[in-house]
Amino acid sequence: MAIERTLSIIKPDAVAKNIIGEVLTKFEKNGLRVVAAKMLHLSRKQAEGFYEVHIGKSFYQPLVDFMISGPVLVQVLEGENAVIMNRNIMGATDPKKADPGTIRADFADSIEANVVHGSDSIDNAKQEIAFFFKPEEIYSR
Ligand code: AMP
Repeated sequence: MAIERTLSIIKPDAVAKNIIGEVLTKFEKNGLRVVAAKMLHLSRKQAEGFYEVHIGKSFYQPLVDFMISGPVLVQVLEGENAVIMNRNIMGATDPKKADPGTIRADFADSIEANVVHGSDSIDNAKQEIAFFFKPEEIYSR
């Protein structure tokens, strides 16, 4: 089993609902460890840069507006197969399609206000982690 790192963002809807702890508990109970974390209020430029892969899609601008609507908690999660493990813990992007017990099934209101972001591949995880964290800001055992 490979120990991986992945980027997680607890989105503005979850921060506003005061459920940061409940979301982190889902990660921890499923074997992932928070090895870096910071609360940020993203600038429009940061959010546009982070989601540039979605430029041109219908949901791009609403997504950027939503991601800058309040603070977020950005974290690096570490653990066995962390990228896919995190995706499984989050559940499907659309909460109506998310499996019971997943973060989105339990806490998300809509496909936009869907509580969490998680990297979708090991390569993207590396890029997304580097977008927010310097190497020395990540705890190494
Ligand atoms: P992803 O890069 O896959 O995390 O997608 C970014 C975010 O865009 C998702 O977490 C959703 O919040 C939003 N999103 C993705 N697909 C749609 C969609 N079809 N309609 C509205 N929002 C979407």
